[in-house]
Parts: sequence; C-alpha cells; structure tokens
Amino acid sequence: MSAKRRKPIMVIGLGRFGGAVSRTLERMGHEVLAVDIDPALVQEFAGELTKVVEADATDTTTLEQLGAKDFDAAVVGIGTNIEASVLIVLALSDLGLTNIWAKATNEKHARILERTGAAHVVFPEQRMGERVAHLINEKLLDFIAFGDEFAIARLIAPEPLLGLPLVTSQCRKKYDVTVVGVKREGENFIHAVPDTIIFPGDELVVSGRIHDLEAFSAM
Ligand code: ADP
Repeated sequence: MSAKRRKPIMVIGLGRFGGAVSRTLERMGHEVLAVDIDPALVQEFAGELTKVVEADATDTTTLEQLGAKDFDAAVVGIGTNIEASVLIVLALSDLGLTNIWAKATNEKHARILERTGAAHVVFPEQRMGERVAHLINEKLLDFIAFGDEFAIARLIAPEPLLGLPLVTSQCRKKYDVTVVGVKREGENFIHAVPDTIIFPGDELVVSGRIHDLEAFSAM
C-alpha cells in the first residue's frame, strides 16, 4: 500500500466486479467505503476495506447519511438488478456526485445509466469476452482495446521481423502498427528504437488499429 492515502471512493455492490474494484482500490491506497445489501458479503469484506456498510443504497437518505456527496468518485457494481443500479446512479447524481462509474449488462442498461448521471459506463463481461477472443489467437499474449478501434497488444515477434533492426522492418509503413517496446527472455523490457534488432521469441508491445494488430500477429 502507498504511504500517502489517496482519494476516498464509494463502491456500491460487492459482487465479483464491485468486490474486485474495492480490493484493488484499497491496495492502491484509496479509502474505500463499500455498501452492500447482503450481510454475508459485508461480513466477508469487513476486515479488508476501510469501511463496509450493510444498506439498501437505492435509499437516497441512506446515501446522504453515508456522506456520499463528499466522495471523489462512486462505483456502482450492480448488474443483475437493473432497477437498483439505475436508482442508485440517480440518487448519487441527485446528491451532486459527478464522477460516477457504473457497470452495465447491456446497451439499453448503459443508455439509461448515462442518462441518469453515470459519467463512465463499463461492460466488464463484454470487454473480457472480446479480450479472450483475441488472446485465443496463439501469438497474442495480452490485448487491451481502447474503444472499438485502437489497441495495444503484447505478442511474440512475427517471423518477418526476425533478425532485422526495426528500421528495416518498416512496421509502421508496411503493417500500420508501431512497435513500442521489446522484452527478451531473461532481460528487462526496453523501449523500441530504430536499431533494435528483433530475435526469435522476443515479446513485442505493439500499438495500432485492432484489425492491423490482428493481421500483424498472424504473420
Ligand atoms: P457481479 O456480476 O459483479 O457479481 P451482481 O449484480 O451479481 O454483480 O452483484 C451485485 C451486488 O450488489 C450484490 O452483492 C448485491 O447484494 C448488491 N446489491 C444489489 N442491490 C443492492 C442495493 N439496493 N443496495 C446495495 N447493494 C445491492
């Protein structure tokens, strides 16, 4: 944990998503106030988070009493009960919170969340599904998409690059991707420069459009 405490954040719903968000924020040094209606979950998280409260967060008065408006951000991690998720986002928004993150289960849910005041709507299952599909491609070791178009991937160096300095491979011109860094087994990660020579088995970090990265990794 970092020595300096970071901003306090409210997390509502301690299911798989909200639970992971809370634990990670706490580990990063944030104060986390978590709220869940389920006493068993409240008990489970009690020793791990700064504060855990058993309450129905659809109730505006409860949120007000918990000081919701003084938090820098709130995360609503409720997917199965769409009505509760929407009511909570609305209540937080009415209390003046602007930095609201909410999990959506489908496009319609997302649209309602955006209208009711969520500044950031995330689709964890959908995004992870897309990620897994890309990772099944055997040369992709990791893949992070930013929206539908752009991504950064970690992959094993494709055949046409082997034994050559990057300047000769002309990745940007030929494949429309940028090699950002190189990790050789047993060595530290290095930033890619024009005279970096690529060897078999090197791991590359590459950025570009998703379809260009797919084509590049399949070479
Ligand atoms: P996940 O798929 O991430 O596990 P769920 O939607 O299944 O997400 O979990 C939602 C969590 O939110 C559950 O732990 C549930 O008890 C909690 N929850 C549901 N409604 C409320 C509410 N009104 N107030 C507080 N917590 C709630």
